[in-house]
Amino acid sequence: MLGDYMSLQNPFECAMKQLQNAYSVLKKSKVKSQKSKVELQSKIEILKQPQRIINVTIPVKMDDGALRIFQGYRVQYNNARGPYKGGIRFHPQVSLDEVKALSFWMAMKCAVADLPLGGGKGGIIVDPKTLSAGELERLSRGYARAIADCIGPDRDVPAPDVNTNGIIMGWMVEEYIKVKSEKLKVKSEEKDKLRATFTGKLMKDGGSEGREEATGLGGLYVLQTILAKLNQQSATSNQQLIVAVQGFGNVGYNIAKFLSDAGFTIVAVSDSKGGIYVPEGLNPALTLDCKKKNGTLAGCYCSGSVCDLKRGKPITNEELLELPVDILVPAALESVITKDNAARIKAKVILEMANGPTTPEADEILFKCAVTVIPDILANSGGVTVSAFEWEQNLKSEHWSKEEVNRKLKKKMEAATTSVWDASLRFSTSLRTAAFVVALERILQAMV
Ligand code: GLU
Repeated sequence: MLGDYMSLQNPFECAMKQLQNAYSVLKKSKVKSQKSKVELQSKIEILKQPQRIINVTIPVKMDDGALRIFQGYRVQYNNARGPYKGGIRFHPQVSLDEVKALSFWMAMKCAVADLPLGGGKGGIIVDPKTLSAGELERLSRGYARAIADCIGPDRDVPAPDVNTNGIIMGWMVEEYIKVKSEKLKVKSEEKDKLRATFTGKLMKDGGSEGREEATGLGGLYVLQTILAKLNQQSATSNQQLIVAVQGFGNVGYNIAKFLSDAGFTIVAVSDSKGGIYVPEGLNPALTLDCKKKNGTLAGCYCSGSVCDLKRGKPITNEELLELPVDILVPAALESVITKDNAARIKAKVILEMANGPTTPEADEILFKCAVTVIPDILANSGGVTVSAFEWEQNLKSEHWSKEEVNRKLKKKMEAATTSVWDASLRFSTSLRTAAFVVALERILQAMV
């Protein structure tokens, strides 16, 4: 399991350290009067805790007739800029502190991407790959029912995250609309608007063109923008750059595919069962076919692994991080780059497609080693950006073409990347601290 090598570092402590770093920069640069100093400090105090934590138990009738009770959370971190927004994760290692960290990062991510949304996140403690399709559906519907009173298009808008997808969003949105219709008289056009409560849906349920691959495509746009800026500084070329991608779920696969299509060479990929290193380069689409060939678990998860490709050299997830590559893309879980392995990383650029893959201690080491870390709240913000487009289309009963969605996504990603890059020059900080500064400035302004 990827989770097996998660460091002991608490993700919420990491998140709060990042907040502290950005606050220190803001404090030095901005605050003139004593009054504004106190105001800034009190707003930061508010941002050290989520606004609301929803703790739910979900009873599920298992196929053998037994009842199992699952533990779930929804954390609504901050809504100063708009309704809470963020995915729902199904994983055996979900914890309240993890969901708190992820919801905080969502608030920051939506602000960096300049979306009219706040931050939230949900999770259920479960290994979904051990469930049958029926059990997975009953669990998903049970969770939607449990949080139904706290969500809605103008309150909190969940989406997919690790181990959840469009099929699961479809069950959840249907269940949510059912609950609302039982309690209130909902007209059919209002029911359509209620679909905006969940994003990342399949097209048949009101999803958006381009949502499934948006996180990967957004990552490509962010990376290309940063490389162009780095090249201006160093006058080097990024032809034939070599890349390793950790994680081969929706995000890992799509970023590998977009990078490969754009001319980068993908030499290593991995998933929860291990990885492969193919120095001459591999084809991400063929690797996915191979992972899919043995069918699915619960109708949702590939039962195979990238290792089934039987090419190159088998490697562990830890070894992948230290390969001699130009660009490293962590696209799985948090806290995989820590003080213990940061100095051994050879990549010059890290594109964080996972949430929270690098701990603050590792960040310091990488900064000293002149590694450019493109932070998660910027690098993977393409997903929530197209989620925001889906929400907007549902609310306005519109349908945007894939070209239109991708054009709008590119514009948003380039604008966000330029704001972060400029802030890093203005404050002489890492891109991470710059991204938090940009986000904080926007959130602080919206807080009353
Ligand atoms: N789970 C994704 C993330 O971490 C997407 C969230 C969304 O679309 O709301 O950014």
